[in-house]
Amino acid sequence: MPTWRIAVLPGDGVGVEVTPEAVKVLKTVGRGARVGFEFTEALVGGAAIDALGEPLPPATLTLCEQSHAILFGAVGGPRWDRAPHEKRPERGLLALRKEFDLYANLRPARCFPMLVDASPLKRSVVEGTDLMVIRELTGGLYFGEPRGVEHFADGGSRAVNTMAYTSREIERVARMGFEVARKRRRRLTSVDKANVLVCSQLWREVVDRLAPEYPDVTLDHMLADNCAMALVMRPTQFDTIVTENTFGDILSDEAAILAGSMGMLPSASIGGRVALYEPVHGTAPDIAGKGIANPIAAILSAAMLLRYSTDMPADAERVETAVTRVLEHGYRTADVRQEGTKVVGTVEMGDLIVRELEGLY
Ligand code: NAD
Repeated sequence: MPTWRIAVLPGDGVGVEVTPEAVKVLKTVGRGARVGFEFTEALVGGAAIDALGEPLPPATLTLCEQSHAILFGAVGGPRWDRAPHEKRPERGLLALRKEFDLYANLRPARCFPMLVDASPLKRSVVEGTDLMVIRELTGGLYFGEPRGVEHFADGGSRAVNTMAYTSREIERVARMGFEVARKRRRRLTSVDKANVLVCSQLWREVVDRLAPEYPDVTLDHMLADNCAMALVMRPTQFDTIVTENTFGDILSDEAAILAGSMGMLPSASIGGRVALYEPVHGTAPDIAGKGIANPIAAILSAAMLLRYSTDMPADAERVETAVTRVLEHGYRTADVRQEGTKVVGTVEMGDLIVRELEGLY
């Protein structure tokens, strides 16, 4: 029986509440699929600063290096907002992304049929939405040099950021786009601004060059501004989107509202040596400690771990089916409550999903 080593980093706030529910679900999969999972927990973020003085202690990094995947909760909170740059909780997450060269961020946005009315968009627009945004995570405008501000004698200033991409950086994330599309409905939309940016012209050139290697995937190109509009006008036209860092940052947040609540959105950061899976949401200080956080984003992140790190797509689907069924049965956490539904807490929602999942083996 194979054993997958999973580093569990719950972090702060609701991260501590939702991550154990995702672990519970993976343990259920382990029993059902007869696969071994070994979970080891470690500190990260504010909790690590409080206990050990730094957001990513060496022991946590070593554990991650020795694991097949990282299950991450969330980090941060008002307690650490005034800490100096290097002692801020989010440095822990950024350091992990950098350490493992996690260059592709995958964010599915799926509108669950029974949550259609929780979306701010009309039912006729959002119904049937099931898309994936792949954002390049380690290059482009957020990292390019030169960057900085110069001040002039006349009191004026000039600020500079640089958008830069090498063909290698584009190729690896574009390949990820084709591979992910292959596991979905085989349609890839590459998003750029090739009409104005030379970076985007190179982006498009590289993506086009790879396309013949993936004859089973239909590729099209779309300008970022057009994509922003299309996402809220006709989101169902999309399957897999691949784009650079800045466009991806904005478009993936826009896509997020299609799903209704932050508590429903999983993500994966992959590409490097060890992949990291985490809910899109933060530590939710307004509800932390009350036992009411929605664990579904964390549980669906665990499903992504099964799909992308342990190559268990059928089990990933079982987890997603269990989530759908529990929602169909009318159970909701407070963030997605609707008239006529039964409101449950974090642990009870996790238990309901586990029970449903057990029935699928
Ligand atoms: P947030 O995602 O924590 O919360 C935004 C809103 O969504 C809040 O109203 C919250 O109650 C709700 N929400 C979030 N998760 C939920 C869940 N599981 N169930 C139900 N409702 C949920 O964003 P924020 O308030 O901007 O940030 C709070 C803290 O989290 C900050 O310190 C921020 O830096 C940090 N943060 C961390 C990450 C991360 O670790 N990846 C991501 C975003 C924000």
